Amino acid sequence: MTDTFDSPITKKIEEGSHGWIQWKASDVFIDIWCTCGHQGSADGKFQYEWKCPECKTKYLLNGHIELVAK
Ligand SMILES: [Zn+2]
Repeated sequence: MTDTFDSPITKKIEEGSHGWIQWKASDVFIDIWCTCGHQGSADGKFQYEWKCPECKTKYLLNGHIELVAK
């Protein structure tokens, strides 16, 4: 699995508010856009990775979420 701590997300974390999703056997449905232009989805439990059916790129589904103050 890819080390998320070397990702650009690290800079976002240092900037302030953020959260991490922990997939604790919960179902999830995610709309996904790949850099190749394919639009797909991930639907299931423990959904940690996604592979684009078009270009075969594998993605770690990083649990980092942006917190938007309102
Ligand atoms: Zn793709």
